[in-house]
Amino acid sequence: MQQEIHRRLRALPAVHEVVSRLEEQTEFSPFMTNERWLLRLTQCVRQVLQGARETIYHNHSGSFEEFEATLWPWIVNEVLKTLSRTESSLRRVINATGVVLHTNCGRALLAPDVARFVAEQAERYSNLELTIETGERGSRYTHVEELLCRLTGAEAAMVVNNNAAAVLLMMNTFALGKEVIVSRGELVEVGGSFRIPEVLKAGGAKLVEVGSTNKTWLKDYEAVIGPDTALLLKVHTSNYRVEGFTHAVSGAELVELGERLGVPVMEDLGSGSFFDGTSLGFPPEPTIKQTVKAGLSLVSFSGDKLLGGPQAGILVGKKSFVQRLRTNQLTRALRVDKLTLAALEATLRLYDNGGIEDIPVWRMLSAPLDTLHTAALELVTALQANPNIAVELQEDVSQVGGGAWPTVKLPTWVCAIRPKQGDIMDLEKFLRLGPIAILSRIHKDRVLIDVRTLLSGDFEEIIQRLGEWGEEVS
Ligand SMILES: *Cc1c(COP(=O)(O)O)cnc(C)c1O
Repeated sequence: MQQEIHRRLRALPAVHEVVSRLEEQTEFSPFMTNERWLLRLTQCVRQVLQGARETIYHNHSGSFEEFEATLWPWIVNEVLKTLSRTESSLRRVINATGVVLHTNCGRALLAPDVARFVAEQAERYSNLELTIETGERGSRYTHVEELLCRLTGAEAAMVVNNNAAAVLLMMNTFALGKEVIVSRGELVEVGGSFRIPEVLKAGGAKLVEVGSTNKTWLKDYEAVIGPDTALLLKVHTSNYRVEGFTHAVSGAELVELGERLGVPVMEDLGSGSFFDGTSLGFPPEPTIKQTVKAGLSLVSFSGDKLLGGPQAGILVGKKSFVQRLRTNQLTRALRVDKLTLAALEATLRLYDNGGIEDIPVWRMLSAPLDTLHTAALELVTALQANPNIAVELQEDVSQVGGGAWPTVKLPTWVCAIRPKQGDIMDLEKFLRLGPIAILSRIHKDRVLIDVRTLLSGDFEEIIQRLGEWGEEVS
């Protein structure tokens, strides 16, 4: 028995042997995030081999041949598991898809100054709920309310966790057990998890649908308004377009009807924007200010879509309505944390100071075509030195994403890559499974790298990773 134990212990490979073999295996490349990775790998291997030794002492049944045959796959598997446990789950990725508000990649990016402000606020105590002048308790919402009012023209403002929460809160505060009238053309689903009918129901409201998918008239609303009507809700159809024979009722028309019959009108604006994109060639979309001006009681929108800030649901409107939102117990459950507030305040200040150039989302959306051309050409030129891939400069289109401007195709320049050996799907996967995941797009047998959504340092990572592709296939 002792003999068998010794035989098995002797069969275990040395730490450095395992490390150098594992280093070569593709399954391990996602862990090669920095210079310290070898050290971590070595630690994990040591830990796994120690575990193997203990196992051998306690259990050495079965044949030696079987033990030997399963040893290596077992080690690989255990090291992978151990490494995964030490790796943080949230990781940087390179978004080369050209989708600016990429839902899977965290939607809007914060401006560097905004991110610095957030980091500062995270590390220090703050006056989150303190009025410094009096030393008394204050409200966390005051930090952004004035700015929001100035930027939107509203009387009052308030912020919750996200826009879905904002809609839920509107329903729960003003329509609990009562009816909410929505046009059939506006029963939106966003990203599969947010559907207007379901959110209304969750908020305790009863949905009353009016009109048809393509046409709804003011008289349709008027016909169903009754004693149980709590409010009229307009939903911005941000992620689809009904084209052709259509009619929708404007917010201003609804407000007029609502005032006549004593029913408040609210709007879920979805990806509300402070900035009028028509000057950049985007189709006309009401800005938040224009929507507020129509006189709605409340308007809600997301913080991390076209606004380009943190995830948040922003509610602006009439003072008495915002006041009632504040006193709802649900508000406490949906409240924003200090880091979100810090990011939102800093982002709003960028707008307040006049420019959209500092907002990454708008910088990407408004990138001039010749700048994109220059950048893509630079990448193509750098990659042409790589003998294992064929690279071309191509015109293509990027998307806004995040359910905003769904029909807009932004002209862009991409670097189109074809592997000289191997499969296109394998190349896409190879890029995705690198030390920093590179997300690309496959189109017509090419892997496309859209420069629109690339950030500083991304070029180098892409060039480096593609340089390893040859080693991979040979
Ligand atoms: C995006 C969107 C929402 C959901 O907003 P979140 O901030 O993701 O919760 C709700 N309504 C509309 C119309 C939207 O476009």
